Amino acid sequence: MLRVGINGYGTIGKRVADAVRAQPDMEVAGVAKVSPDYVALGAAEAEYPLYAVDEDRTDGFHEAGIDLAGTVDDLVADSDIVVDATPSGIGAQNRPLYERHDTPALFQGGEDATIAEVSFNARANYDEATDADYVRVVSCNTTGLSRLVSPIHEDYGIEKVRTTLVRRGGDPDQTGRGPINDALPDPVSIPSHHGPDVQTVFPELDIDTIGLKVPTTMMHVHAVNITLEEAPDDVSEIRDRLRGEDRLLMIPDYAGIDGAGTLKDLALDAGRPRGDIWENCIWEESITIEGRDLYCMQAIHQESDVVPENIDAIRSVTGLLDGPESRALTNETLGIGL
Ligand code: NAD
Repeated sequence: MLRVGINGYGTIGKRVADAVRAQPDMEVAGVAKVSPDYVALGAAEAEYPLYAVDEDRTDGFHEAGIDLAGTVDDLVADSDIVVDATPSGIGAQNRPLYERHDTPALFQGGEDATIAEVSFNARANYDEATDADYVRVVSCNTTGLSRLVSPIHEDYGIEKVRTTLVRRGGDPDQTGRGPINDALPDPVSIPSHHGPDVQTVFPELDIDTIGLKVPTTMMHVHAVNITLEEAPDDVSEIRDRLRGEDRLLMIPDYAGIDGAGTLKDLALDAGRPRGDIWENCIWEESITIEGRDLYCMQAIHQESDVVPENIDAIRSVTGLLDGPESRALTNETLGIGL
């Protein structure tokens, strides 16, 4: 059993921990927390060994009745690999800790791409992370775009991608984020940073992105235009191709799903943990071909789409399975595509 430590137990970290626990070939060595808040209580209730990030703050945990297994240093020493899911920029500060213990680590998309040898997406470049010591699992938006671009790139060739990203203002627990009553160009500069981030996975891809931020916590929505090198005979060909991808969920017109709200409602009705949606959700009717231009709209659940990617990255780095085997096992254990 591969022992996986989780450093940074927030939106992404707690989901990755639960996903690791669902795998037959790995287990949670423990999770590291800064403070004894409700999330730490949840970790204790889930019986994850808890490690304190800051030695000077262990009293708070004891006062809250939370037992500690040690400090983050102990956790790294006891782990075969660490998933660092700390806030943007903290991962870079943590890298020397992993180096000191000679422990491989995954970082998240909020870190600069230079933090790791590889920027990872399970569908696009699984093999590149094999034997790497440090890997960055790209952000939610970059994951969503990489999954969509991969099969199209393989089958039709891509001349240029243009995407407008309508981004959620914050996650549900980020009570201080906004806007609360506006639609903001964000960033105002064009292209936004998302295009260059996709190029960390597809260095040759010509892609421009524009970003906006709106008052919702639910999901991002992408309006995508891809100029193909070679157009298909019929749009149904592209629909079938995308339908064949496990982590692309086609939303049929008859389902009456008109936005992120109904998607989240569906996920909760389906009994998915935390209402998570690990797949890209593509409105089937939006898939359109005009000459060599492909158009579509997709919703991306920012809190969860990178979770299966972290599981696959763990297997790639440690050599547990090859890409197709790992993706299939992750899909099966999490219930992806059901
Ligand atoms: P978060 O704030 O929800 O969770 C981070 C956790 O790390 C918190 O519990 C925080 O207390 C803890 N922490 C802070 N400093 C720490 C330290 N020094 N050591 C250990 N833990 C520490 O953040 P998140 O949304 O889970 O984001 C984590 C990473 O994942 C970021 O790089 C982010 O860009 C990326 N990401 C986030 C999303 C998203 O939408 N939330 C999506 C994809 C990728």
